[in-house]
This record gives sequence, structure tokens and C-alpha cells, in this order.
Amino acid sequence: MGLIGLTTEELSELVAKHKAPSYRGKQLSHWIYRRYASDFNEMSDLPADLRSDIHQEYTINPIHISACVKSSDGVVKYLFEMGDGERIESVYLPYPDRVSICVSTQAGCPMRCAFCATGSEGLSRNLTAGEIVGQALALQRERPDRRISHVVYMGMGEPLLNYDATLKSVRLLINEVGFSARHITLSTVGVPDGIRKLSRENAPVTLALSLHAPNDQLRARLIPTAMKWRLAEILQACREYFDATGRNLTFEYLLLQGVNDSPEHAESLATLLEGLPGNVNLIPYNPVKVDQTFRRPNTKGIQAFREVLERRGRVVTQRMERGGGISAACGQLRRHAFEAQQPEISAAPER
Ligand code: SAH
Repeated sequence: MGLIGLTTEELSELVAKHKAPSYRGKQLSHWIYRRYASDFNEMSDLPADLRSDIHQEYTINPIHISACVKSSDGVVKYLFEMGDGERIESVYLPYPDRVSICVSTQAGCPMRCAFCATGSEGLSRNLTAGEIVGQALALQRERPDRRISHVVYMGMGEPLLNYDATLKSVRLLINEVGFSARHITLSTVGVPDGIRKLSRENAPVTLALSLHAPNDQLRARLIPTAMKWRLAEILQACREYFDATGRNLTFEYLLLQGVNDSPEHAESLATLLEGLPGNVNLIPYNPVKVDQTFRRPNTKGIQAFREVLERRGRVVTQRMERGGGISAACGQLRRHAFEAQQPEISAAPER
């Protein structure tokens, strides 16, 4: 088991079992969450026997980097291996004014979205809070030059179907690692119970909804497993979320050429969202290599879609295209790792 995933309080209980005073728990917490220690030997101010006692039972980070792929624009995609051999991905995205990372919440995903590389393989298992936070800490250790400032829960998996571990990881990132709540975004396919729970608990996240279609029929083609949650119910939960928290949502809309990208789709989308505050974030489809079903619309098509929404009073943003050529969409690196030798994947970087 990993120490990462335990709160300072839980770490203090752990050291108490070894007859150490509770401030030792605070020191341990400081080493793992603020100094990104990856080895007990680094923890020079902790007694050697306490370190070795804890080391008998615990590792520090429950996951480790097993491969990475760099793109020319600085985006790096990391493949992690966990204790049981399951693999997940995270993405490191440096911008001039901030560094963002994209983390996974499940190994695989049960949603089976038609356009997604992760969905095609199904769910293996939920991640623990430590395995989620461990992604951020391993990347920060790997890239000490700049501080990671933003975390988006947009990697593999559906965070609201792994609610408890996801929320615990958000709280650890804020309370222990020191992230600002305003810089944590959770993207969901739209699980109404999960959204309601987030509002009840006033969870410290920005919520993004993967809408992708303006009506239930079309959405069911793209996200077949989400059929049990109708748009009316999902959007009602979003409204309750806004009323309870006062936080704007982001509506993500993946653009697939000839499928959901016509001006009529844009009109229906504007109507669907009437009265619901929040920006629309347009995401041009990121092609999944083996998949020929979907295509990314051209710039003109994207612009036309955008103009309809703007004319109807919606603020529209567009996801920046990053990580070209490195399988930047979720699930793609893991899929490659399963396939025969991929020359573009390098071994884990030297420590
Ligand atoms: N399960 C969550 C979070 C993971 S996916 C969700 O559905 O929101 C994060 C975002 O990436 C989602 O909006 C998802 O629909 C989108 N996505 C998945 N595959 C993609 C692809 N090939 N190109 C562009 N976006 C993709």
C-alpha cells in the first residue's frame, strides 16, 4: 500500500502505532505531499527505525511511471503501472502561464463512448485516492522545473462512478498538496446522483459535463451506456448544482464531422441549454488511430458551429490542440503499450 492517499491525520495515526508522536505524521506528510519524496532515505529528519518500520508495510507512491511520450509542443503523456500490473495514463500540459495535468480515475472505463480509446476496452477497476493523487505527485517529481498548478479529471475513467476515491483525491490535492480549488476541474459523462452529491457536499471542484449531443437519440449513439440517464435529468442535476454552489459549469461538446456538428445541432444545443449558465467548450475530435468511424470537422465547420452558439448568447471556448502526434486522446497510449513494439514510446525516464 502507498502512503500517498492518507491524510496528515491518518499518517499521524499510523506513526502512533509505531509509538511515535503525532508531529512525526506531519513530517511524513510534508515529505510526501510537499517535497515529493519517492524514497524513505530522503526523509532525513525522521528516525531511521521509524522509517524502516513504516517501509516494512508501505511504499510511498502506489504507482510508478513505466513509459512516456513527448510531443514537440511540450506535452508529455505518461503511462503508469500500478501494484497489480494495471496501467493508466496521465498527461502533462505546460502552457506559458500555467502547468496543467490530466489524471485518470479508473483503469479502463465502463462508459464505452463510441469515439474514445479508453471506452473500447471496458473497466478493469476503480483507482484508489492514492493512485489518483500519486499521478500528480509523480509528475511533479519528474518535472521539478515548474509547479503544476491545474488538475483536470479528464483522463481514463468516469470520476463520478468512483465517487469516494475521486473526492478524497480532490481533498488531498487541496488540503495536503496545496492546489487551489479553483484550479481543479472534474469532467463527467453526466451521472445525476453523483452531480447531486457533489452539490450537497459543496465539493471544491469546477464541474464539466461531456454533453456531445443536443438530444437523447444522438447522445445514445455516442455514449450508449449513458442511455439510462436522460439529458433532462442530467441538466436538472446541473441546475441544482449551480443553484447550490453558485459555480458555473462547462459544457463540453465533442465535434464529430457529419454526426453532431451542423448549424442545426448548434441551434438545438443553444435551446437545450437556455437558462443554464455556463460556457460551451468545443473539442474537435482527436482521431483514435485504429478507428476510422469518426472525423474531425474542418476549421470552417467549427467556426460556423461556434457562431450559432455565440449569436444565441453563449460564451464559447475551444480546446487548444496540444500533443499532436503522441496519441493525446485518452486511452491511446495504454492501447499502444498493449500492441506490438511502438517505436515512439520511450522507456521510463531516468531518475
Ligand atoms: N468520463 C469523463 C472524463 C474522461 S474523458 C467524461 O466523460 O467526461 C474526458 C473528455 O475527453 C470527455 O469530454 C470525453 O468525451 C473526451 N474524449 C474522449 N475521447 C476523445 C477523442 N478521441 N477526442 C476528443 N475528445 C475525446
